[in-house]
Order: sequence, then C-alpha cells, then structure tokens
Amino acid sequence: MLPDFLIIGAGAVGLASALELARRGARVTVLDRFRAGAESTWAGGGILSPLLPWQYGDEVNTLSEYSRANFADWCARLQAMSGLDAEYRTSGMLVLPPYSEAQAFDWCARHGWRCEKRGQSDFLPTSSMDGEEALWLPDVAQARNPRLVQVLRAAALAAGIRIVESAEVTGLISAQGRVTGVMSTQGEFAASGVVVSAGAWTGTVPGLEALAETVFPVRGQMLLFKLQPEALRTIVLQDGRYLIPRIDGHVLVGSTLERVGFEKSTTESVKRDLLAFSASVLPALSELVMVHHWSGLRPGSHDNVPVIARYPGYDNLFINSGHFRYGVTMAPGSALLLADLIEGKSPAISAAPYAQAMTGLFASL
Ligand SMILES: Cc1cc2nc3c(=O)[nH]c(=O)nc-3n(C[C@H](O)[C@H](O)[C@H](O)COP(=O)(O)OP(=O)(O)OC[C@H]3O[C@@H](n4cnc5c(N)ncnc54)[C@H](O)[C@@H]3O)c2cc1C
Repeated sequence: MLPDFLIIGAGAVGLASALELARRGARVTVLDRFRAGAESTWAGGGILSPLLPWQYGDEVNTLSEYSRANFADWCARLQAMSGLDAEYRTSGMLVLPPYSEAQAFDWCARHGWRCEKRGQSDFLPTSSMDGEEALWLPDVAQARNPRLVQVLRAAALAAGIRIVESAEVTGLISAQGRVTGVMSTQGEFAASGVVVSAGAWTGTVPGLEALAETVFPVRGQMLLFKLQPEALRTIVLQDGRYLIPRIDGHVLVGSTLERVGFEKSTTESVKRDLLAFSASVLPALSELVMVHHWSGLRPGSHDNVPVIARYPGYDNLFINSGHFRYGVTMAPGSALLLADLIEGKSPAISAAPYAQAMTGLFASL
C-alpha cells in the first residue's frame, strides 16, 4: 500500500501520475495554481508520437513507444471511469517533403511502424503541391486535448483523487531529508510523498530553482479553423508545422518553438506564417475565418528528454516533468515509470535516461 501523495500540477503528466498512484493504492491530492489541464495540456495538438521519430534519440522514442503501446487501453479505462471520450483515434499522418526517405524507412522497419510512399492527392483535395509524393504513416494516433483534460479530471475524481484548483504551491516543507508537505495559497497540505509535475513552471517551484535550466518554457502558437467533418481526415506534417483534423471538422494549425520565457501572448507574424502554411497545404482554409489563435508553454528540455526521477537530497520527492513537445504522448508511460520508481519495482523500460539531467545537474554543484 502506497502512502499519501501530493502532486503539484494538474496537467496531463500530473493527472496521469495521480491516476496511476491511486490505481496502486495511494491516497492522492493534486494541487494546481490555476485550473486542471488549462496550460500546455489544453493548448497542445494531441499528436501521439514524436513528429518524425527518426530525428530523436532512443530516450525519446523508447518512452514514446512504451506510452503508445499503453495509450489505447489507458484511454478506454479513463473513458469507462469518466463516461467521457477523449477522441483517441488512429488518424494516420501524411508527411510532406522535405524528409529523409532512407532514414524514415529504416527507422520504421526497425520499430515495426508501417510506412508507405503515397501521392498527396490521395489525401489532400487541392494541394498546391499536387503531384508530389509524401510519406504515409497510417499508425499515428491523436487525442483531442481539451477533451482529454475533461476525461482525466473526471476519471481522477471518480478514482477518489482530490483536485484542489487555484492552489499555487509556494514552498516545500521538509525535515531530515523528507518532504512532509507543501505550503500553498490555500494553506498547508501534508503528505508522505510529493511529485512535482508543474510543467514549464517546474523550476519556479520554491526549492526547485536548480531545475530552471533543465525544464524551461518553450512557447507554441496554434490556429483553429472549422471545416466540414471529413474535409481533412489525416494529420499533415511539413517541416515541423502541421494540420490536425478533429472528428467534428475543426482543424488545428501549428506550431512554433519560441524561447520567450513565460510570455504567453500570440503574435501577428506567427499568425501570418501559419495562415500561409495552412493555405499552401489546404487552400480551402484560406477562404475561412479563423476560429481561434492561442499559445501554450511547453515544458522544454534538452533533446526533449524528460526528468522522471527522485529529487536528490530527499527520499520522497519526485519529479515528472520536461516532456517538451510530447507530454501528452508520453503521459501514460511516464506515469507507469514514475510509479514503479516510487514502489521500488523494476520498470519495463530503463529509468536511467530520465534521471540523467538530474544526475548531471547535481554532480556539478
Ligand atoms: C502548441 C503546442 C502543441 C503541442 N502539441 C503536442 C502534441 O501534438 N503531442 C504531444 O504529445 N504533446 C504536444 N505538446 C506538448 C504537451 O502539451 C506538453 O508536453 C504537456 O501538456 C505537458 O504536460 P504537463 O502536465 O507537464 O504540463 P502542463 O499541462 O503545463 O501542466 C502543468 C500544471 O502545473 C501547474 N503549476 C505550475 N506551477 C504550479 C505551482 N507552483 N503550484 C501548483 N500548480 C502549478 C500549472 O497551472 C499547470 O496546470 C504541445 C504543446 C503546445 C504548447
């Protein structure tokens, strides 16, 4: 039986961690300084894979693949618990040139992914790039972020997890190498263990400033359009930018990677750039009025490798953060890994890469 846990941050990573710890018998309270899931988790696109996995290291792909292998069951379980649907589905992804065909086919063959060359007109009715070939990755899945947030929140409540919103953690309370609780804007909370999943803000939690260089904010902007359902059926990716179609015809256009600190405004120049991109792929979008333009702050990390580890100097303080571009993809796998670490069990994948940043950081102090 696990002891009481406090989780700081109710994004996808914090709620997934809470649900897994509760499933293993812990009593869990999640604190969020704002509303559950309203930050990066709400803002993201919900593509459930690294954009081009062959461009990432094994640390990213091992955790992503572990998560992907669990994602369908995880969503089904959450749906049964919450009665809500995160719109998890395998919509596939079309990658438009430029891309390295040899690298793509080699990686896909080694990892059991299906990959084919297809004409763009098979998927895009009137692309300005008609006639050119593209890579078709039929196994790429997606979830609809704002729905996933609702599902996670409702499933957590159904599991008996306490979620306290508008509770900003302002300090850790500790004695003799153990955290005994936290101070917050809603008073003190005691716990036998604490997990920090505060996303881009992880290094701003008082006491964890040493992590500010390890987990840092990276802004991404996104546009939203509304087409007829099925007007676009697959995710389309080109040069780091993408279109993501939802079941009801909404299409997201993203995104950017901007190191602008904790600045969450949107900019006209990015809007112009994303509009031009979207019109070049799907000209019908240029005739529509944009529904929404927003930005979110990803929990950036070096080489996109998250930190999932015990925090040095404390027996019972854990970090699960820094998932950067793939925090939704990696959420269930990271929660399993974290819970195994906490329980002292041998995890299904090696935990070492995800403690690396922390080890390096504290070795140099
Ligand atoms: C534009 C964009 C597109 C993206 N697309 C994808 C994608 O297609 N696929 C994918 O897998 N990922 C994508 N991501 C990344 C993904 O959204 C993030 O990696 C993921 O949401 C991180 O989850 P998190 O729980 O760590 O952080 P968050 O969702 O940011 O949650 C952190 C929470 O901590 C809370 N918090 C912070 N400080 C405190 C404190 N002191 N006290 C209490 N609470 C605190 C915050 O209020 C917040 O709710 C995208 C992100 C963006 C911005």
